[in-house]
Amino acid sequence: MNKRIEKSIQFLWILTLNMVVVFILVGCGANSSERASANEVKNGQSNTEGIVRSASTVVKDSKTNRVITSQDSFQIGTYIKISIYSDKEVPAIQFDRIFEEIDQFEKLISKNITTSEVSMINENAGKAPVKVSSDIFELIQMGIQYGEISSGGFDISIGPLVDLWGIGSEGAHVPTESEIQEALSKIDYRNILLNETDQTVFLKEEGMSLDLGAIAKGYIADQVKTLIQEEGHQSAIINLGGNVLTVGHKPNSEAWSIGVRDPKGENKDIVGILKLQDNSIVSSGTYERFFVEDGKRYHHILNPKTGYPEENHLQSVSIISEKSVVGDALSTTVFVMGLQAGYAYVESLDQVDALFIMEDGSIYGTSGTKSVFSLTNNNYNLKEFVFSTK
Ligand code: ADP
Ligand code: MG
Repeated sequence: MNKRIEKSIQFLWILTLNMVVVFILVGCGANSSERASANEVKNGQSNTEGIVRSASTVVKDSKTNRVITSQDSFQIGTYIKISIYSDKEVPAIQFDRIFEEIDQFEKLISKNITTSEVSMINENAGKAPVKVSSDIFELIQMGIQYGEISSGGFDISIGPLVDLWGIGSEGAHVPTESEIQEALSKIDYRNILLNETDQTVFLKEEGMSLDLGAIAKGYIADQVKTLIQEEGHQSAIINLGGNVLTVGHKPNSEAWSIGVRDPKGENKDIVGILKLQDNSIVSSGTYERFFVEDGKRYHHILNPKTGYPEENHLQSVSIISEKSVVGDALSTTVFVMGLQAGYAYVESLDQVDALFIMEDGSIYGTSGTKSVFSLTNNNYNLKEFVFSTK
């Protein structure tokens, strides 16, 4: 099937299912009056060459007395929604710039695009260093840093294992033990060699491959925020496949209300609400991508030591931070660390908070969440975290 059509179908499907990890509760007030803008095209049609996206939806929000202009797209393998609060409808050309910027990043980062810088690095594993753009260099540097923080629990050289399991793709299956051991032998973030002067990246061993899936969305969300601010907007909300990044506060000075996804519920079910401003919230959870084989669920956050999906009674970790790339990296890192080590680590950081949702319905929030999180789902219980003495 033509790749564009395939993408469009995927997009429409995702729109229908409303596949957002975090459901945003803003702009949905009963007082809002909604109309389609003059330049509306049917959902899924593209008006920026090669990018699958919708046209603007324009809503007059009576609570803030502002116009909310929103557009959706399907890029970097995920559903994206951008809503900007302004005095009047935001011109489509401003969204064009945003979606084009995301497209540029996808072309650099995706390991499924053969010409991307990440693909070049992977192809040259064990052979030669590859010169990359400053964005990719910075992202890989950051990835290595989280590898160090987690002693390899988070590892961006996890490519061989991700490919082997294929979670999220049609070929997902439980690999054999020897296949797992073979993939594990290729994973070690310490074998990613960076040369700052030359801006090159070299994977020391043949067969190694980078997978930036755990941090790329956060990095791109931060770039989108900068772009929206450069366009002169002070209030906006960016949802990049569940990485939610708020720009400023709502025009009426209220914080944004952001629902935290119920890991056991449907897409729109939430466990509670976070009140945030100028902050990012990113969740990593077992519900996001998984497959079932012989009655057992296998999710997409893998432990680079065991080679299997991490099983530590966590269902999801949500990170609140200023930068979305930090939240993205940490949500995956802390998920692999588990509740005890992860909670302690997040508490040791300034201006970063976390919510841990456990399989038994317990929710633990670090100290900064106490004033901003309210539980709304009585299938869950907020509990006080007790440091283990073991
Ligand atoms: P999502 O992309 O669904 O929002 P995450 O940010 O947690 O979720 O990233 C998960 C992705 O990161 C996986 O699909 C895989 O590509 C990659 N990944 C899985 N396990 C690890 C790990 N231990 N370290 C680094 N990256 C990982
Ligand atoms: Mg992540």
